[in-house]
Amino acid sequence: MKGAIRALMVLVAVVGCRYQPSEEPAGQAGNGLKVFISVDMEGIAGVITGNEVSSSAPEYQYFRELTTQEANAAVEGALAAGATEIVVRDGHGAKNNIIPHLLHTEAKLLRGVTDRPENMMLGIDESFDAVIFIGYHAKAGTEEGILAHTSSGNVIDLSVNGVSFPEAGYNAVIAGLFDVPVVLVAGDNWICDQATDLFGNVVTVETKVGMDVAALGLHPKAAQDLIRSETEAALSDLGRFEPYRMEPPYTMVLKVWRERGQFPGAERTGEGEFTFTSDDFLEVMDAFNALK
Ligand SMILES: [Zn+2]
Repeated sequence: MKGAIRALMVLVAVVGCRYQPSEEPAGQAGNGLKVFISVDMEGIAGVITGNEVSSSAPEYQYFRELTTQEANAAVEGALAAGATEIVVRDGHGAKNNIIPHLLHTEAKLLRGVTDRPENMMLGIDESFDAVIFIGYHAKAGTEEGILAHTSSGNVIDLSVNGVSFPEAGYNAVIAGLFDVPVVLVAGDNWICDQATDLFGNVVTVETKVGMDVAALGLHPKAAQDLIRSETEAALSDLGRFEPYRMEPPYTMVLKVWRERGQFPGAERTGEGEFTFTSDDFLEVMDAFNALK
């Protein structure tokens, strides 16, 4: 697929260092299906409180294991659909939640924080064929959403070109910049609804029904089984998904509880409100990250 040119370049590099080809099956070096899995934590089956997703709390160690298992379910589904390359981006907090040795051996793990605007999508590029969101949560202000917020607790609302975004929304735009569709979103029912409203054709897996600070949830294994089978089904029928795109220029309106940053070109358009316009969506993300 998209990896064909890349595969050629790899082949050139490989020939250049006189590597002898092994007996590996053909088509395993970039012509196959390449999948990007971005993993958050609030939407993982079982999670309901902030402590469960905060590295300083004792409960966290258990829930990071469940997070790793849900990521693995998506990896297994992707492998069953024929994926030949899988990158798992740890996307929550300090981006060091997934337990490396418990992650499926066929996946590469991208962990750690950088200043780059891609953030939870760090590592995405045009070589990927599909994006999957695991453990995602509803946007700030979603009354009954479990741990609903938009990137930081300081954000009241983030909209771009009049569309109010959860994290899944702007992360999907980033994937769209590289022509990669989001095919599956797993999290509580509220983010599943928000993702469907935004993307239209996307597979959702409801790990729990959020009821403010309570949730009626699937058993972790049941959630993982669903993620595995739905991921395989979605990736086996990739043609029905479209990248999520928004036309430039991009005008961001960000409303925050407390003003605590500045960004060149961003205008203060009200109490706790900033407006910023750019043709470069990643620059909009830079502004968001500086002001949020
Ligand atoms: Zn998170």
